[in-house]
Amino acid sequence: MNEHIDSRQVEKIIAFQKEHNCKKLDENKTIKCNICGYESEYEFLPYKTRNTNTKQKCPNCYALKRTRLLYYVLEHYTDYLKHDDIRILQTSPTTSLYKRFKSQYHDNYTSSDIQQMPQVDEIINLEEIPYPDNTFDLILSKHVLEHVPDYPKALREIYRVLKPGGKIIFLIPSLDIPKTFEFPQINTPELRSRYYRQFDHLRYFGIENVYKDLEDTGFDTIKNIEKKIPKDDMIYYLLSDEPVYIGIKPEKPKNNIKNIEEDPKINLQTRKNYCSLCENENPERFKDTGSTHDYVCLNCYSRGDDRLIYNEIYFDINEDSIILNFNSSEAMENKFKKYKNYNKNIPEKGFIQKTKLKTTNNEYLDKLQKIQDKSVDFIISNHFLDRQVDDFKILREFNRILKSSGKLLIKETTDLDLEYKIEAPEYNREYRRFFMGNHDTIKVYGKDLLHMCHFAGFNIEYEDPEKQINNLQSITSQRTKAPLIICTKK
Ligand SMILES: [Zn+2]
Ligand SMILES: [Zn+2]
Repeated sequence: MNEHIDSRQVEKIIAFQKEHNCKKLDENKTIKCNICGYESEYEFLPYKTRNTNTKQKCPNCYALKRTRLLYYVLEHYTDYLKHDDIRILQTSPTTSLYKRFKSQYHDNYTSSDIQQMPQVDEIINLEEIPYPDNTFDLILSKHVLEHVPDYPKALREIYRVLKPGGKIIFLIPSLDIPKTFEFPQINTPELRSRYYRQFDHLRYFGIENVYKDLEDTGFDTIKNIEKKIPKDDMIYYLLSDEPVYIGIKPEKPKNNIKNIEEDPKINLQTRKNYCSLCENENPERFKDTGSTHDYVCLNCYSRGDDRLIYNEIYFDINEDSIILNFNSSEAMENKFKKYKNYNKNIPEKGFIQKTKLKTTNNEYLDKLQKIQDKSVDFIISNHFLDRQVDDFKILREFNRILKSSGKLLIKETTDLDLEYKIEAPEYNREYRRFFMGNHDTIKVYGKDLLHMCHFAGFNIEYEDPEKQINNLQSITSQRTKAPLIICTKK
Protein backbone atom coordinates (compact mmCIF):
# COMPACT_ATOMS: atom_id res chain seq x y z
CA MET A 1 0.00 0.00 0.00
CA ASN A 2 1.27 3.46 -0.94
CA GLU A 3 4.63 2.13 -2.19
CA HIS A 4 4.70 4.93 -4.75
CA ILE A 5 4.80 7.57 -1.99
CA ASP A 6 7.83 8.21 0.24
CA SER A 7 7.25 6.38 3.55
CA ARG A 8 8.00 9.43 5.72
CA GLN A 9 5.49 11.36 3.65
CA VAL A 10 2.89 8.65 4.28
CA GLU A 11 3.49 8.91 8.02
CA LYS A 12 3.00 12.66 7.84
CA ILE A 13 -0.26 12.26 5.94
CA ILE A 14 -1.63 9.77 8.48
CA ALA A 15 -0.72 12.12 11.34
CA PHE A 16 -2.49 14.90 9.45
CA GLN A 17 -5.63 12.75 9.15
CA LYS A 18 -5.60 11.92 12.87
CA GLU A 19 -5.19 15.61 13.66
CA HIS A 20 -8.46 16.20 11.77
CA ASN A 21 -10.30 13.48 13.71
CA CYS A 22 -10.43 11.11 10.77
CA LYS A 23 -11.56 7.80 12.25
CA LYS A 24 -10.13 4.41 11.43
CA LEU A 25 -12.30 2.50 8.97
CA ASP A 26 -13.71 -0.97 9.71
CA GLU A 27 -11.29 -3.89 9.89
CA ASN A 28 -9.68 -4.68 6.50
CA LYS A 29 -11.39 -1.70 4.86
CA THR A 30 -9.48 0.97 2.96
CA ILE A 31 -10.36 3.85 0.69
CA LYS A 32 -8.21 5.04 -2.18
CA CYS A 33 -7.81 8.24 -4.15
CA ASN A 34 -7.87 7.22 -7.80
CA ILE A 35 -6.01 10.38 -8.83
CA CYS A 36 -2.85 10.27 -6.68
CA GLY A 37 -3.16 6.62 -5.64
CA TYR A 38 -3.04 7.32 -1.90
CA GLU A 39 -4.76 4.51 -0.01
CA SER A 40 -5.89 4.90 3.58
CA GLU A 41 -7.26 2.96 6.54
CA TYR A 42 -8.59 6.26 7.87
CA GLU A 43 -11.38 8.54 6.74
CA PHE A 44 -10.40 11.30 4.34
CA LEU A 45 -10.23 14.92 5.47
CA PRO A 46 -13.38 16.88 6.23
CA TYR A 47 -14.70 19.18 3.52
CA LYS A 48 -17.03 21.87 4.73
CA THR A 49 -19.24 24.25 2.74
CA ARG A 50 -22.56 25.89 3.45
CA ASN A 51 -24.34 22.81 2.10
CA THR A 52 -22.07 19.90 2.99
CA ASN A 53 -19.86 18.67 5.74
CA THR A 54 -18.40 15.34 4.77
CA LYS A 55 -15.07 13.58 5.07
CA GLN A 56 -14.07 13.30 1.44
CA LYS A 57 -10.91 15.31 0.76
CA CYS A 58 -7.85 13.26 -0.18
CA PRO A 59 -5.17 14.11 2.42
CA ASN A 60 -2.42 13.69 -0.17
CA CYS A 61 -3.63 15.53 -3.30
CA TYR A 62 -6.75 17.27 -1.90
CA ALA A 63 -9.06 15.80 -4.54
CA LEU A 64 -12.77 15.95 -3.67
CA LYS A 65 -15.21 13.18 -4.43
CA ARG A 66 -16.59 14.94 -7.49
CA THR A 67 -13.08 15.34 -8.93
CA ARG A 68 -12.45 11.64 -8.36
CA LEU A 69 -15.74 10.89 -10.13
CA LEU A 70 -14.68 12.91 -13.16
CA TYR A 71 -11.31 11.16 -13.19
CA TYR A 72 -12.94 7.76 -12.78
CA VAL A 73 -15.09 8.35 -15.86
CA LEU A 74 -12.03 9.45 -17.83
CA GLU A 75 -10.10 6.38 -16.76
CA HIS A 76 -12.80 3.77 -17.26
CA TYR A 77 -15.02 5.07 -20.02
CA THR A 78 -12.61 6.94 -22.31
CA ASP A 79 -9.08 6.27 -23.53
CA TYR A 80 -7.77 9.82 -23.20
CA LEU A 81 -5.41 8.91 -20.36
CA LYS A 82 -3.62 6.47 -22.67
CA HIS A 83 -2.59 9.23 -25.06
CA ASP A 84 -0.03 11.94 -24.38
CA ASP A 85 -0.57 14.07 -27.46
CA ILE A 86 -4.08 15.36 -26.83
CA ARG A 87 -5.18 18.92 -26.17
CA ILE A 88 -7.18 19.41 -22.94
CA LEU A 89 -8.97 22.46 -21.55
CA GLN A 90 -10.21 22.51 -18.00
CA THR A 91 -12.59 25.31 -17.03
CA SER A 92 -11.63 25.73 -13.38
CA PRO A 93 -8.40 25.10 -11.51
CA THR A 94 -8.21 21.89 -9.47
CA THR A 95 -5.04 21.17 -7.51
CA SER A 96 -5.20 17.40 -7.83
CA LEU A 97 -5.89 17.31 -11.56
CA TYR A 98 -3.47 20.13 -12.28
CA LYS A 99 -0.54 18.17 -10.86
CA ARG A 100 -1.70 14.96 -12.48
CA PHE A 101 -2.30 16.39 -15.96
CA LYS A 102 0.64 18.77 -16.15
CA SER A 103 2.96 15.83 -15.55
CA GLN A 104 1.48 13.93 -18.49
CA TYR A 105 0.34 16.60 -20.95
CA HIS A 106 2.53 19.62 -20.08
CA ASP A 107 1.44 22.64 -22.12
CA ASN A 108 -1.18 20.64 -23.96
CA TYR A 109 -3.22 20.86 -20.77
CA THR A 110 -4.68 24.31 -20.10
CA SER A 111 -6.31 25.12 -16.81
CA SER A 112 -8.57 28.18 -17.03
CA ASP A 113 -10.92 30.30 -15.00
CA ILE A 114 -12.82 33.56 -15.39
CA GLN A 115 -10.33 35.21 -13.02
CA GLN A 116 -6.70 34.87 -12.05
CA MET A 117 -5.95 32.46 -9.23
CA PRO A 118 -3.34 29.84 -8.43
CA GLN A 119 -3.01 27.11 -11.06
CA VAL A 120 -4.85 29.10 -13.70
CA ASP A 121 -2.88 29.05 -16.94
CA GLU A 122 -5.23 31.35 -18.75
CA ILE A 123 -8.23 33.57 -18.05
CA ILE A 124 -11.07 32.36 -20.25
CA ASN A 125 -14.69 33.45 -20.44
CA LEU A 126 -16.60 30.43 -21.71
CA GLU A 127 -19.00 32.69 -23.57
CA GLU A 128 -16.10 33.74 -25.80
CA ILE A 129 -13.36 31.13 -25.83
CA PRO A 130 -10.26 32.73 -27.38
CA TYR A 131 -9.31 29.69 -29.44
CA PRO A 132 -9.90 28.77 -33.07
CA ASP A 133 -12.47 26.17 -34.13
CA ASN A 134 -11.54 22.50 -33.64
CA THR A 135 -8.74 23.05 -31.11
CA PHE A 136 -9.39 20.69 -28.18
CA ASP A 137 -9.80 16.94 -27.86
CA LEU A 138 -11.28 17.15 -24.39
CA ILE A 139 -12.90 19.83 -22.25
CA LEU A 140 -13.40 19.15 -18.56
CA SER A 141 -15.74 21.33 -16.54
CA LYS A 142 -16.49 20.82 -12.90
CA HIS A 143 -19.30 22.90 -11.40
CA VAL A 144 -18.72 25.94 -13.61
CA LEU A 145 -21.65 26.20 -16.04
CA GLU A 146 -24.06 27.16 -13.23
CA HIS A 147 -22.02 30.38 -12.91
CA VAL A 148 -22.07 31.33 -16.60
CA PRO A 149 -24.76 33.90 -17.48
CA ASP A 150 -25.24 32.93 -21.13
CA TYR A 151 -25.00 29.19 -20.70
CA PRO A 152 -26.36 28.25 -24.17
CA LYS A 153 -23.71 30.48 -25.70
CA ALA A 154 -21.03 28.75 -23.63
CA LEU A 155 -22.22 25.40 -24.98
CA ARG A 156 -22.01 26.73 -28.54
CA GLU A 157 -18.48 27.99 -27.88
CA ILE A 158 -17.43 24.68 -26.37
CA TYR A 159 -18.85 22.90 -29.39
CA ARG A 160 -16.96 25.23 -31.71
CA VAL A 161 -13.52 24.78 -30.13
CA LEU A 162 -13.81 21.00 -29.76
CA LYS A 163 -12.38 18.88 -32.55
CA PRO A 164 -14.86 16.62 -34.35
CA GLY A 165 -15.09 13.53 -32.15
CA GLY A 166 -13.95 15.61 -29.14
CA LYS A 167 -15.79 15.49 -25.84
CA ILE A 168 -16.99 17.79 -23.10
CA ILE A 169 -17.30 15.98 -19.78
CA PHE A 170 -18.86 18.04 -17.05
CA LEU A 171 -20.50 18.18 -13.65
CA ILE A 172 -23.11 20.72 -12.54
CA PRO A 173 -25.66 21.01 -9.74
CA SER A 174 -28.61 19.17 -11.22
CA LEU A 175 -31.77 17.43 -10.15
CA ASP A 176 -34.27 15.11 -11.72
CA ILE A 177 -36.70 17.97 -12.41
CA PRO A 178 -38.47 18.43 -15.74
CA LYS A 179 -36.97 21.81 -16.46
CA THR A 180 -33.90 23.76 -15.43
CA PHE A 181 -34.84 25.99 -12.50
CA GLU A 182 -33.84 29.51 -13.49
CA PHE A 183 -35.76 32.75 -13.07
CA PRO A 184 -34.67 36.28 -13.89
CA GLN A 185 -36.35 37.60 -10.75
CA ILE A 186 -33.84 35.61 -8.69
CA ASN A 187 -31.26 38.30 -9.23
CA THR A 188 -29.50 39.17 -5.99
CA PRO A 189 -26.86 37.23 -4.03
CA GLU A 190 -29.41 36.76 -1.24
CA LEU A 191 -32.10 35.38 -3.54
CA ARG A 192 -29.59 33.15 -5.33
CA SER A 193 -28.40 31.71 -2.04
CA ARG A 194 -31.97 31.04 -1.07
CA TYR A 195 -33.14 29.41 -4.30
CA TYR A 196 -29.99 28.09 -5.97
CA ARG A 197 -28.13 27.34 -2.73
CA GLN A 198 -25.14 29.52 -3.53
CA PHE A 199 -24.89 33.29 -3.91
CA ASP A 200 -23.20 33.15 -7.31
CA HIS A 201 -25.15 30.30 -8.89
CA LEU A 202 -27.51 31.31 -11.66
CA ARG A 203 -29.63 28.19 -11.99
CA TYR A 204 -30.28 24.64 -10.86
CA PHE A 205 -30.17 22.31 -13.83
CA GLY A 206 -32.81 19.73 -14.77
CA ILE A 207 -31.09 16.54 -15.92
CA GLU A 208 -33.18 15.91 -19.04
CA ASN A 209 -33.03 19.60 -19.89
CA VAL A 210 -29.23 19.47 -19.94
CA TYR A 211 -29.22 16.57 -22.41
CA LYS A 212 -31.68 18.47 -24.56
CA ASP A 213 -29.50 21.60 -24.42
CA LEU A 214 -26.50 19.54 -25.50
CA GLU A 215 -28.42 17.94 -28.35
CA ASP A 216 -29.86 21.29 -29.45
CA THR A 217 -26.31 22.60 -29.64
CA GLY A 218 -25.33 19.73 -31.94
CA PHE A 219 -23.71 17.29 -29.53
CA ASP A 220 -24.29 13.57 -29.35
CA THR A 221 -24.72 12.56 -25.72
CA ILE A 222 -23.85 9.65 -23.48
CA LYS A 223 -26.41 9.44 -20.71
CA ASN A 224 -26.29 8.08 -17.18
CA ILE A 225 -22.71 6.87 -17.29
CA GLU A 226 -22.43 7.30 -13.52
CA LYS A 227 -25.07 4.63 -13.07
CA LYS A 228 -22.76 2.06 -14.65
CA ILE A 229 -20.07 2.49 -12.00
CA PRO A 230 -19.89 -0.61 -9.76
CA LYS A 231 -21.07 0.09 -6.23
CA ASP A 232 -17.84 -1.25 -4.74
CA ASP A 233 -15.85 1.29 -6.74
CA MET A 234 -18.15 4.08 -5.58
CA ILE A 235 -17.26 3.16 -1.99
CA TYR A 236 -13.59 2.26 -2.48
CA TYR A 237 -12.74 5.45 -4.37
CA LEU A 238 -15.27 7.52 -2.43
CA LEU A 239 -16.92 8.94 -5.55
CA SER A 240 -19.68 11.50 -5.79
CA ASP A 241 -22.98 10.01 -6.99
CA GLU A 242 -24.00 13.00 -9.10
CA PRO A 243 -24.72 12.84 -12.86
CA VAL A 244 -21.79 13.12 -15.27
CA TYR A 245 -22.69 14.81 -18.55
CA ILE A 246 -20.90 13.87 -21.74
CA GLY A 247 -21.33 15.68 -25.04
CA ILE A 248 -19.54 14.48 -28.15
CA LYS A 249 -19.05 16.72 -31.15
CA PRO A 250 -20.05 14.49 -34.07
CA GLU A 251 -17.57 13.84 -36.88
CA LYS A 252 -20.10 15.38 -39.25
CA PRO A 253 -22.37 18.20 -38.01
CA LYS A 254 -26.03 17.23 -37.75
CA ASN A 255 -28.19 19.04 -40.25
CA ASN A 256 -31.18 19.53 -37.99
CA ILE A 257 -29.31 22.08 -35.93
CA LYS A 258 -30.52 25.60 -36.45
CA ASN A 259 -27.99 27.66 -38.30
CA ILE A 260 -27.46 30.49 -35.89
CA GLU A 261 -26.48 32.93 -38.62
CA GLU A 262 -29.82 32.39 -40.29
CA ASP A 263 -31.91 32.44 -37.15
CA PRO A 264 -33.95 35.66 -37.24
CA LYS A 265 -34.52 35.30 -33.50
CA ILE A 266 -30.88 36.10 -32.99
CA ASN A 267 -30.35 38.25 -36.00
CA LEU A 268 -32.92 40.73 -34.82
CA GLN A 269 -30.38 41.95 -32.34
CA THR A 270 -27.88 42.86 -34.99
CA ARG A 271 -30.04 43.41 -38.06
CA LYS A 272 -31.82 46.40 -36.66
CA ASN A 273 -34.07 46.95 -39.64
CA TYR A 274 -35.05 43.39 -40.39
CA CYS A 275 -38.73 42.55 -39.96
CA SER A 276 -39.20 38.89 -39.10
CA LEU A 277 -42.89 39.13 -39.87
CA CYS A 278 -42.78 40.23 -43.51
CA GLU A 279 -39.18 39.05 -43.92
CA ASN A 280 -38.11 42.35 -45.37
CA GLU A 281 -35.29 44.68 -44.64
CA ASN A 282 -36.62 48.15 -43.85
CA PRO A 283 -34.93 50.94 -45.78
CA GLU A 284 -34.39 52.84 -42.55
CA ARG A 285 -34.88 52.18 -38.91
CA PHE A 286 -38.39 51.10 -37.97
CA LYS A 287 -40.61 54.10 -37.58
CA ASP A 288 -41.32 55.31 -34.07
CA THR A 289 -45.04 55.94 -33.91
CA GLY A 290 -44.65 58.23 -30.95
CA SER A 291 -47.92 57.55 -29.21
CA THR A 292 -47.21 54.01 -28.03
CA HIS A 293 -43.44 54.12 -28.47
CA ASP A 294 -43.70 51.10 -30.66
CA TYR A 295 -41.66 50.78 -33.82
CA VAL A 296 -43.63 50.07 -36.97
CA CYS A 297 -42.34 48.16 -39.99
CA LEU A 298 -42.72 50.26 -43.12
CA ASN A 299 -43.45 47.18 -45.22
CA CYS A 300 -46.12 45.31 -43.29
CA TYR A 301 -47.03 47.81 -40.56
CA SER A 302 -46.27 45.28 -37.85
CA ARG A 303 -45.59 46.70 -34.44
CA GLY A 304 -42.77 45.74 -32.11
CA ASP A 305 -45.00 43.47 -30.04
CA ASP A 306 -46.12 41.61 -33.17
CA ARG A 307 -42.54 40.90 -34.19
CA LEU A 308 -41.53 39.94 -30.68
CA ILE A 309 -44.36 37.41 -30.48
CA TYR A 310 -43.99 36.06 -34.00
CA ASN A 311 -40.28 35.68 -33.48
CA GLU A 312 -40.93 33.38 -30.56
CA ILE A 313 -43.17 30.93 -32.46
CA TYR A 314 -41.74 31.21 -35.96
CA PHE A 315 -39.85 27.91 -35.74
CA ASP A 316 -42.63 25.94 -34.11
CA ILE A 317 -45.55 26.82 -36.36
CA ASN A 318 -46.42 24.54 -39.25
CA GLU A 319 -49.30 24.56 -41.69
CA ASP A 320 -51.50 22.39 -39.46
CA SER A 321 -50.95 24.45 -36.31
CA ILE A 322 -54.09 25.57 -34.57
CA ILE A 323 -53.62 29.18 -33.60
CA LEU A 324 -55.82 31.42 -31.51
CA ASN A 325 -54.84 35.04 -31.76
CA PHE A 326 -56.40 37.52 -29.37
CA ASN A 327 -56.23 41.13 -30.35
CA SER A 328 -54.59 40.89 -33.68
CA SER A 329 -52.99 43.70 -35.57
CA GLU A 330 -53.50 43.84 -39.31
CA ALA A 331 -49.96 42.63 -39.90
CA MET A 332 -50.47 39.58 -37.68
CA GLU A 333 -53.82 38.93 -39.32
CA ASN A 334 -52.17 38.94 -42.75
CA LYS A 335 -49.40 36.69 -41.54
CA PHE A 336 -51.67 34.12 -39.96
CA LYS A 337 -54.61 33.98 -42.31
CA LYS A 338 -52.71 31.70 -44.68
CA TYR A 339 -52.74 29.01 -41.97
CA LYS A 340 -55.85 26.93 -42.53
CA ASN A 341 -56.47 26.43 -38.81
CA TYR A 342 -56.08 30.03 -37.82
CA ASN A 343 -58.81 30.99 -35.34
CA LYS A 344 -60.59 27.90 -36.61
CA ASN A 345 -62.23 26.48 -33.53
CA ILE A 346 -63.70 29.73 -32.42
CA PRO A 347 -67.46 29.28 -32.44
CA GLU A 348 -68.29 32.43 -34.27
CA LYS A 349 -66.56 34.27 -37.06
CA GLY A 350 -65.34 37.72 -36.27
CA PHE A 351 -64.94 36.70 -32.68
CA ILE A 352 -61.76 38.60 -32.22
CA GLN A 353 -62.19 42.11 -33.35
CA LYS A 354 -60.12 44.82 -31.92
CA THR A 355 -63.05 47.17 -31.62
CA LYS A 356 -64.97 44.71 -29.49
CA LEU A 357 -62.15 44.10 -27.07
CA LYS A 358 -62.98 47.18 -25.09
CA THR A 359 -65.99 45.46 -23.66
CA THR A 360 -65.31 44.39 -20.16
CA ASN A 361 -68.15 41.93 -19.76
CA ASN A 362 -67.45 38.22 -19.86
CA GLU A 363 -68.27 37.67 -23.49
CA TYR A 364 -64.92 36.05 -24.23
CA LEU A 365 -64.97 33.77 -21.24
CA ASP A 366 -68.27 32.29 -22.41
CA LYS A 367 -66.87 31.67 -25.85
CA LEU A 368 -63.67 30.12 -24.59
CA GLN A 369 -65.67 27.70 -22.48
CA LYS A 370 -67.13 26.21 -25.66
CA ILE A 371 -63.71 25.22 -27.00
CA GLN A 372 -62.58 21.62 -26.51
CA ASP A 373 -59.90 20.59 -24.01
CA LYS A 374 -56.36 20.32 -25.37
CA SER A 375 -57.25 21.43 -28.87
CA VAL A 376 -55.04 24.47 -29.52
CA ASP A 377 -51.33 24.73 -30.38
CA PHE A 378 -50.72 28.45 -29.92
CA ILE A 379 -52.61 31.11 -28.06
CA ILE A 380 -51.52 34.70 -28.40
CA SER A 381 -52.77 37.18 -25.86
CA ASN A 382 -51.57 40.57 -27.00
CA HIS A 383 -53.19 43.31 -24.93
CA PHE A 384 -56.19 41.09 -24.38
CA LEU A 385 -56.08 40.13 -20.70
CA ASP A 386 -55.53 43.73 -19.71
CA ARG A 387 -58.98 44.47 -21.09
CA GLN A 388 -60.76 41.64 -19.32
CA VAL A 389 -62.41 41.65 -15.92
CA ASP A 390 -62.10 37.92 -15.30
CA ASP A 391 -58.54 37.60 -16.48
CA PHE A 392 -57.64 34.72 -14.17
CA LYS A 393 -60.61 32.64 -15.30
CA ILE A 394 -59.55 33.30 -18.88
CA LEU A 395 -56.03 32.11 -18.10
CA ARG A 396 -57.51 28.92 -16.62
CA GLU A 397 -59.48 28.44 -19.85
CA PHE A 398 -56.32 29.01 -21.90
CA ASN A 399 -54.65 26.30 -19.85
CA ARG A 400 -57.54 23.92 -20.41
CA ILE A 401 -57.78 24.32 -24.19
CA LEU A 402 -54.03 24.32 -24.85
CA LYS A 403 -52.44 21.05 -26.00
CA SER A 404 -49.77 19.76 -23.64
CA SER A 405 -47.13 20.69 -26.22
CA GLY A 406 -48.75 24.08 -26.82
CA LYS A 407 -47.58 27.58 -26.04
CA LEU A 408 -49.32 30.64 -24.71
CA LEU A 409 -47.68 33.97 -25.43
CA ILE A 410 -48.67 36.91 -23.30
CA LYS A 411 -47.80 40.54 -23.89
CA GLU A 412 -49.89 42.88 -21.79
CA THR A 413 -49.67 46.33 -20.27
CA THR A 414 -47.20 45.47 -17.54
CA ASP A 415 -44.80 47.16 -15.16
CA LEU A 416 -42.75 44.61 -13.27
CA ASP A 417 -41.70 47.28 -10.79
CA LEU A 418 -45.23 46.97 -9.41
CA GLU A 419 -45.92 44.16 -6.98
CA TYR A 420 -49.63 44.09 -7.85
CA LYS A 421 -51.70 45.31 -10.74
CA ILE A 422 -53.39 48.69 -10.86
CA GLU A 423 -56.92 48.27 -12.11
CA ALA A 424 -59.60 50.72 -13.13
CA PRO A 425 -63.17 49.90 -12.08
CA GLU A 426 -64.39 50.14 -15.67
CA TYR A 427 -63.35 51.24 -19.09
CA ASN A 428 -62.89 54.97 -19.53
CA ARG A 429 -60.81 56.57 -22.24
CA GLU A 430 -59.25 59.00 -19.77
CA TYR A 431 -57.50 56.20 -17.95
CA ARG A 432 -55.04 55.93 -20.81
CA ARG A 433 -52.80 58.55 -19.20
CA PHE A 434 -52.17 56.11 -16.36
CA PHE A 435 -51.89 53.09 -18.56
CA MET A 436 -48.92 53.86 -20.84
CA GLY A 437 -51.16 55.42 -23.45
CA ASN A 438 -52.96 52.15 -24.09
CA HIS A 439 -56.37 53.68 -24.23
CA ASP A 440 -58.56 50.61 -24.14
CA THR A 441 -56.91 48.80 -21.28
CA ILE A 442 -58.34 48.73 -17.78
CA LYS A 443 -55.19 47.70 -15.93
CA VAL A 444 -51.43 47.66 -15.63
CA TYR A 445 -50.12 44.34 -14.39
CA GLY A 446 -47.30 44.04 -11.90
CA LYS A 447 -45.44 40.93 -10.86
CA ASP A 448 -48.83 39.41 -10.07
CA LEU A 449 -49.25 38.59 -13.76
CA LEU A 450 -46.42 36.06 -13.41
CA HIS A 451 -48.03 34.55 -10.31
CA MET A 452 -51.39 34.36 -12.07
CA CYS A 453 -49.81 32.39 -14.90
CA HIS A 454 -48.26 30.00 -12.39
CA PHE A 455 -51.50 29.50 -10.52
CA ALA A 456 -53.36 28.98 -13.80
CA GLY A 457 -51.11 25.95 -14.39
CA PHE A 458 -48.31 27.28 -16.57
CA ASN A 459 -44.56 27.15 -16.49
CA ILE A 460 -43.34 30.55 -17.51
CA GLU A 461 -40.27 31.83 -19.18
CA TYR A 462 -39.27 35.34 -20.11
CA GLU A 463 -36.19 37.31 -20.83
CA ASP A 464 -35.23 39.99 -18.34
CA PRO A 465 -37.28 42.88 -19.79
CA GLU A 466 -34.44 45.36 -19.47
CA LYS A 467 -32.17 43.05 -21.41
CA GLN A 468 -34.94 42.52 -23.90
CA ILE A 469 -35.30 46.25 -24.42
CA ASN A 470 -31.56 46.72 -24.79
CA ASN A 471 -31.16 43.79 -27.13
CA LEU A 472 -34.17 44.53 -29.21
CA GLN A 473 -34.14 48.29 -29.49
CA SER A 474 -35.48 48.01 -32.98
CA ILE A 475 -38.45 46.02 -31.74
CA THR A 476 -40.00 48.15 -29.10
CA SER A 477 -39.01 50.96 -26.84
CA GLN A 478 -41.50 50.31 -24.11
CA ARG A 479 -41.12 52.49 -21.06
CA THR A 480 -41.89 49.92 -18.40
CA LYS A 481 -40.71 46.41 -17.72
CA ALA A 482 -43.27 44.63 -19.86
CA PRO A 483 -41.97 41.21 -20.80
CA LEU A 484 -43.22 38.83 -23.42
CA ILE A 485 -44.21 35.88 -21.24
CA ILE A 486 -43.98 32.43 -22.74
CA CYS A 487 -46.19 29.89 -21.00
CA THR A 488 -46.13 26.13 -21.37
CA LYS A 489 -48.38 23.70 -19.54
CA LYS A 490 -47.13 22.26 -16.27
ZN1 LIG B 1 -5.36 12.00 -3.93
ZN1 LIG C 1 -42.64 43.91 -41.80
